[in-house]
Amino acid sequence: MKSKKNIVLIAHDDLKDEMIDWAKKNLKSLKSHNLFGTGTTGKILANELKLKIKRFKTGPLGGDQQTGAKIAEGKIDCMIFFWDPLSPHPHDVDVKALLRLAVVYDIAVATNRASADFLLSSPLMKKAYKQVPMKLISK
Ligand code: PGA
Repeated sequence: MKSKKNIVLIAHDDLKDEMIDWAKKNLKSLKSHNLFGTGTTGKILANELKLKIKRFKTGPLGGDQQTGAKIAEGKIDCMIFFWDPLSPHPHDVDVKALLRLAVVYDIAVATNRASADFLLSSPLMKKAYKQVPMKLISK
């Protein structure tokens, strides 16, 4: 990945306010990267914070799967996903598939506010970095 990262921002409904607050506090840093988001998260961030953000579909209607496809194509470097473990979601299987691909392709992932702070403040966010995607080992 290059020094300017492709970052996707996703927040489940009960965590959208948390995402807005976090993004507000990290606006300067976020603006120095290319931003992507699932439908509703992306719309809210664009409206509230005037962020330029390329939007996929809303999560329950395929946005998580679109994000996963972009990861598989090598087009997403980092994912900030405020995933809600306290509410049921109709697209739970999509969430699991998305997290799976994030691990397979070795992208940088944060799934709560503290890990998002650690990720965004890493010196590696300003440098090129070589990921090591997992490989299938045939037995
Ligand atoms: P949303 O999707 O940003 O469109 O709400 C997020 C999700 O539910 O995965």
